[in-house]
Amino acid sequence: MAENNQQDLFKTIVQKADIVEVASHYLKLTKKGNNYTALCPFHNDKSLGSFYINQEKQIFKCFSCGMAGNALNFIKEIENISWKEAAVKLCEVAGIDEPELRNSIVTKTVSEDIKQIYDCLQALSDFYVLSLKQSEDGAEALEYLHKRGLSDEN
Ligand code: ZN
Repeated sequence: MAENNQQDLFKTIVQKADIVEVASHYLKLTKKGNNYTALCPFHNDKSLGSFYINQEKQIFKCFSCGMAGNALNFIKEIENISWKEAAVKLCEVAGIDEPELRNSIVTKTVSEDIKQIYDCLQALSDFYVLSLKQSEDGAEALEYLHKRGLSDEN
């Protein structure tokens, strides 16, 4: 559910952004026919001819390193940041001045971050329970806890 919302938000932003405008913040673009070309920022590119941006389809592709995607992928890869950070950054770079949209990105995706932290804590706590019950040190600790009046249920 949350993921669908997030996907929808990302889609909305990508639709509002122009990949040529976004890429021009980072690269020197040269018009070539219906496409734009530049030195590929994702591999050690020496000459034009590999990296293309198709404005009509709103995608980029590098025929040398295989990197491809839309404006959001582009920002995420070139800035090396998370999807959420990339979405916020894309609003900035593309000049999408919609505070509501920006807020939705921050609030709707924050729950995903919290879930990840929770999963991590849960895994850590499972680990402690396991090591208490299974290891020799654990047996000692368990005995200590029993003396303190704690049962296995705790
Ligand atoms: Zn490349």
